[in-house]
Amino acid sequence: MKFNTKAIHAGQKPEETSGAVMPPIFQTSTYAQEAPNVHKGYDYARVGNPTRTALEKMIAGLEGADECACFASGVAAMDALLKMFRPGDHILSSNDLYGGSYRLFTSVFEPYGIKFSFIDMTDLELVKASITPSTKMMWIETPTNPLLRIVDIKALVDIAKEQNILTIVDNTFASPYLQRPLEFGADAVLHSATKYLAGHSDVVHGAVASSHPAIMENLRFQVKSTGAVPGPMDCYLTLRGIKTLAVRVERSVQNAKAIAEYLDKHPKVSQVNYPGLKAHPQHELASRQMDDFGAMLSFTLKDDSIDAAVKFMSSTKFFTLAESLGGVESLISNPASMTHGSIPKEIREKGGLKDSLIRISVGIEDVEDLIADLDQAF
Ligand SMILES: *Cc1c(COP(=O)(O)O)cnc(C)c1O
Repeated sequence: MKFNTKAIHAGQKPEETSGAVMPPIFQTSTYAQEAPNVHKGYDYARVGNPTRTALEKMIAGLEGADECACFASGVAAMDALLKMFRPGDHILSSNDLYGGSYRLFTSVFEPYGIKFSFIDMTDLELVKASITPSTKMMWIETPTNPLLRIVDIKALVDIAKEQNILTIVDNTFASPYLQRPLEFGADAVLHSATKYLAGHSDVVHGAVASSHPAIMENLRFQVKSTGAVPGPMDCYLTLRGIKTLAVRVERSVQNAKAIAEYLDKHPKVSQVNYPGLKAHPQHELASRQMDDFGAMLSFTLKDDSIDAAVKFMSSTKFFTLAESLGGVESLISNPASMTHGSIPKEIREKGGLKDSLIRISVGIEDVEDLIADLDQAF
């Protein structure tokens, strides 16, 4: 099955009692048992729900994984995954990372004794040098947020495998339509399904897909024991969103390419970060690793200040000033004052994140309208 077919059919079958083509929203907390522990595969809805199962099979199919576990949000999925580690364990991560991941690592897990290093993962020698005997996992995000750097998944997996280190890729920015990390040997893929998978800015949802038995066993245990599970309505919305993932992302990418080229020529712009531009430092790697270059981009202004960024953002009509990404509508944000506000300024700047950086999640509107909107904002 190729991707577009998978996005409609992977793991799906008409519902057994009625033939419903879409799985019903099984709004129940528990299931009748024929005798103690004799049941149709479901006993209590924290542990499992048929609407959730349909979604899990779909995401597993898209990522080429044996299994998937869904959560109430992307950070809930990360939290469950990180609970497989113990005090003293070390996790290697990127210095250009989703702000919420950084907060979860440093403010929730570090106080429990798990150690993290935040490094430039595009520097493979630095990655090798940062591995310690306690390193248990590499946490990879690519393209990175918000600088759109590309991390070489295959190269990191090769380094990790030699030393028995697990690799997880946060695939939120690319979506499986553009990038499937398990094909490069990664052990697990994480999604904030809130973004491209659900795709309509109407649900918060997380997922981990993997064929690694120990990772999946831990996740199932966390689902049951700590219970940050999504409700059936949210699973339904996410599954419904996934059905159009391919066509949405395809259009968004087309639009993003045109916008990147427009910004690249603009006299008030100092730099455009978009892997599809030939001048992007990892353009060639992106061409190998991704099926296309994505619909996220960021740029800095010659007037490098939060004030200038805020002024620009409050002048756009079709780009809504908002956090989040991956929906059908175009969004605009200033990481330094919004998503990455929880990262201290020195650390932000060390990672290359400037005050005027503006991030755009390109939607599926007509690109002429989007470019005209940016033009009047300048
Ligand atoms: C949004 C996001 C998350 C967190 O997911 P939520 O669904 O908001 O909890 C994690 N990683 C990346 C890259 C994100 O953009």
